[in-house]
Amino acid sequence: MDAIPPPPAIRRLGQNFLVDPNIVRKIVALAELSASDSVLEIGPGRGILTEALSRAAGHVTAIEIDPRLHTFLSERAEHLPNVALVLGDALTAPIEHLPMGTIVVANLPYYISTPLLFRLLSHGNRFVRLVLMMQNEVADRLIAKPGTSEYGVLSVMAQYSAQISKAFKVSPKCFRPRPEVDSAVVLLRVHEPRARGPQEERQFTALVRAAFAHRRKTLVNSLKNEGYDAKHVEAVLTRLRLSPSLRAETLALEQFLELAHHLADPA
Ligand code: SAM
Repeated sequence: MDAIPPPPAIRRLGQNFLVDPNIVRKIVALAELSASDSVLEIGPGRGILTEALSRAAGHVTAIEIDPRLHTFLSERAEHLPNVALVLGDALTAPIEHLPMGTIVVANLPYYISTPLLFRLLSHGNRFVRLVLMMQNEVADRLIAKPGTSEYGVLSVMAQYSAQISKAFKVSPKCFRPRPEVDSAVVLLRVHEPRARGPQEERQFTALVRAAFAHRRKTLVNSLKNEGYDAKHVEAVLTRLRLSPSLRAETLALEQFLELAHHLADPA
């Protein structure tokens, strides 16, 4: 029995703690961990997932922003022999020193799930695999296909970096306190960058953001509003046999990559 009860949840820090051991098991199984693996956990909270990760992996680094929970877990260090508990903000904490091939496993704090995801995916294959619990609605945007209302910047950028699958949904009943939304666990397998070099990658990222900046407009008009030369865009679309009246949400990832490549040519 715990000597000290865990501190109460702070909602603004996204503290919806998992209480269903079956979900913990399914998350750990999905991560396919072995004793030689290094794991990064974001937001260990009261440690339900951390303990399971500690048993399944070689080493776990767990970054927690709440000093109360950091202290609570530090006092249980005997259950977490191979876990480095770090007090810090996962959006800014140094993660560059983690071994290449680290696997990220987390029940994310939902209020920052999107920027956290972008941060993790920006590290190339330092993080090879990500098993993340997030809002179901965000999971649907990650796997969205062109032509659907969920398809947008997040879908294109995440699919650019990783092969993504939604593994299973999780009911609010599996948490305390219960979140107001459904959740889902997503598996992301990070792959090699598809752009031809870092400059093209920057152009691709800027293009995707500009293309979706004005969702109701045609691609040409949205890009024009974001400072692109409309005539050059039209010429490139014609060269690629794409209609000048199409909208960003109908373009597949490969087409965005092609477009970024050709737009970089002088007009
Ligand atoms: N892993 C625990 C579980 O499954 O029960 C807790 C998950 S809870 C959804 C999210 C955790 O992330 C909380 O412990 C919260 O304090 C922590 N957190 C919130 N913002 C954070 C941040 N910026 N950096 C690191 N941890 C954060």
